[in-house]
Amino acid sequence: MSAQLIDGKAIAQKVKDDVAAAVAARVAAGKSKPGLATVLVGERVDSATYVRMKQKACADLGMESFHHPLPSDSTQEEVENLVRELNADPTVNGILVQLPLPDHLDEEKVLQAIDITKDVDGFHPINIGRLAQKGREPLFVPCTPFGCIHLLKESGVKIEGANAVVLGRSNIVGMPAALLLVRENATVTVVHSRTQNIPEVVRRADIVIAAIGKMEFVRGDWVKPGAAIIDVGINSKPDATRKRGYRLVGDVNFDEVKEVAGYITPVPGGVGPMTIAMLMKNTLRAAEIQDQ
Ligand code: NAP
Repeated sequence: MSAQLIDGKAIAQKVKDDVAAAVAARVAAGKSKPGLATVLVGERVDSATYVRMKQKACADLGMESFHHPLPSDSTQEEVENLVRELNADPTVNGILVQLPLPDHLDEEKVLQAIDITKDVDGFHPINIGRLAQKGREPLFVPCTPFGCIHLLKESGVKIEGANAVVLGRSNIVGMPAALLLVRENATVTVVHSRTQNIPEVVRRADIVIAAIGKMEFVRGDWVKPGAAIIDVGINSKPDATRKRGYRLVGDVNFDEVKEVAGYITPVPGGVGPMTIAMLMKNTLRAAEIQDQ
């Protein structure tokens, strides 16, 4: 292996340690514990797991969490009313509505109902709009792309002037990752399902952020020697040697790409742990903004 492994677990732990220390200092100074409200509509098993992980992270770092499960047939009005109640609750600093919402609900309207000073997921149209505009500052940046940039910086990868390729243009990962790279002065290409000759595009990249949800899609011979590879993908690959019958792999063919790249994140243990760490950082920031 020639690539340097980017240890997302260790980098996420450092972020969480810093948040825990800042929370302890706040409390010692007589200020409130930051509080995160989670809203889960329906019973998706994966969403319930993510919410539990977020609640556990709050407890580990000395923060409050308030969980609000709603039935899957909740109306738009019921969900928006809950968000408005949480907006008005001073013990709640951050509001996280777990996505995806059931199909009958209008996600954009729900996200728009969140007070932007409590928008710790960074998905409110105003926060995303500010992220896209020069000279404007979003209050919060979406957690997974925020984590990707943090991994690059902590690893000493130079972003300014680099050619960066983002695979995927979703609202939650690909597009905000591309906007963040532009803000860091990279030259950015966004690849999506209609892009022609993807291997050729990827070969020009000094930095690749892969977020398309296609198992081991990026191959070793697509990668420029020395490039930094951030793999956001989480895919289950059948594996009879594992007790559960599968293992998690990314959107990058790790075994091939690690021989060519300069830096690479593993799956699991790369981007995954960063998402919750950045959510905790955003929740602390929300409490600090609301102190003012
Ligand atoms: P998504 O909403 O399904 O978006 C996928 C994107 O990839 C779309 O923009 C799509 O293009 C593009 N795409 C799909 N197939 C492609 C192909 N063959 N060639 C080129 N582009 C293609 O996915 P997402 O929510 O962004 O998630 C992406 C991956 O990241 C998933 O594996 C997900 O599990 C993972 N994820 C991980 C974390 C974490 O914390 N580590 C967080 C979120 C997501 P079009 O726009 O043209 O359809």
